[in-house]
Amino acid sequence: MICEIICVGTELLLGEIINTDGAFIAREIAALGFSSYHQTVVGDNPDRLRAAVREGLTRSDIIIMTGGLGPTCDDITKVAVAEVFGRQMYFDEATRDDIESFFNRIGREMTENNLSQAMIPEGATIFYNKWGTAPGIAVSGEIGGKMKYAILLPGPPAECEPMFIECAKPYLESLSSDTIYSLNLHLYGIGESGAEQILRPIMEESVNPTVAPYACEHEVRIRITARSKSLDDAKVMCHEMADRIRAGEVGEYIYSESDTPDDAKNSMVMTMIRELRARGMTFASAESCTAGMISARVGDIPGASDVLLGGIVSYANDVKMKTLGVPEEVLASHGAVSEECASYMAKGARAVIGSDIAVSVTGIAGPGGGTAEKPVGMVCFGIADKSGTYTETKYFRSKSDRSKIRRLTTAHAMMLVIKRLHGEI
Ligand code: ATP
Ligand code: MG
Repeated sequence: MICEIICVGTELLLGEIINTDGAFIAREIAALGFSSYHQTVVGDNPDRLRAAVREGLTRSDIIIMTGGLGPTCDDITKVAVAEVFGRQMYFDEATRDDIESFFNRIGREMTENNLSQAMIPEGATIFYNKWGTAPGIAVSGEIGGKMKYAILLPGPPAECEPMFIECAKPYLESLSSDTIYSLNLHLYGIGESGAEQILRPIMEESVNPTVAPYACEHEVRIRITARSKSLDDAKVMCHEMADRIRAGEVGEYIYSESDTPDDAKNSMVMTMIRELRARGMTFASAESCTAGMISARVGDIPGASDVLLGGIVSYANDVKMKTLGVPEEVLASHGAVSEECASYMAKGARAVIGSDIAVSVTGIAGPGGGTAEKPVGMVCFGIADKSGTYTETKYFRSKSDRSKIRRLTTAHAMMLVIKRLHGEI
């Protein structure tokens, strides 16, 4: 099926806001396996909006629209769609109750014009909006002898994005008798554009499954999506494509795969926990610049107690010496931000806590404290396990902010544990 996006809002046309809704939905529908050949931005003008809806429905089976669902008089999307489908608008009591209870919940007075959001085209499917007041709507019907569909979502991204996932996506999936399955490959150490360049030929030739890279904060994710009559078939198609990608140039950067959103979101820490668990090993951290972030990330995952024994936040040199046993001479001759110190920190944490493996980090998160020799963003890492220690230094770009440097450090520390368990370092 062909699907296109129409984003409504004069602010978009004037460049006052960036069309992130359009970009988000475009990625999602591509991942769902729909073809998409057009995208439109149209202002809050009833005639031009109607024309855009008509034109969209002439060339595509489905239009997804964002914006113009709110209570103000420029919010005209529903009316334009109702007109094109030849539907009357009616006042939906249940939607009015939902809007009223939303206002009660947030403790604000509902104004009269909010009630206009309960006006719905006849025969429409209503998507309850947990994140705001304007409900989403889906209208379907025959136009020009073919079934056509319009899905309307609110403009604010904080409403549009979750409503797409929770409401529009299942609706789109129900339009096709096929099952959709997605597999994510997680890559570390290569950027999105690098991965895309290598994968471009596969991406261009692959219609089913589709292949698309996404940049996340510290990694790249390649999403493979297949549609088929059976889930098993779709899985086989995705795994065959994954094998092909693994065998290619990006293969060496792939550290894990996932097929659920939760796994995908936490893939680094989940992979580390999985790999530790598979070996029956326990873990500890000694953290300076991350001040406990590594342990906290592990602790976020249910069942982390299988592997996480503890962590030591050793911010001050005194704690590095007294708790972890870093020799004073090491601090005096190499400084706290040094591989020598990181090595002692990891060994110390492993000994004090009694874990099978320990990771340590010590670095300069900024914004102050950098020197020419040891700039902001410089972080030393240590790993200690029964075969000895491993250390390395990484330079995160100093224009990254403090909290980003700490998050990147946390991810890299986990990646080193994974590599160590794989026997790569
Ligand atoms: P509201 O109930 O807030 O009026 P709405 O569905 O009527 O929601 P609009 O009035 O069109 O949506 O837009 C509301 C706000 O949502 C805009 O000011 C803008 O901040 C954001 N927004 C709208 N469309 C987009 C878009 N395509 N991409 C990103 N943000 C958008
Ligand atoms: Mg509005």
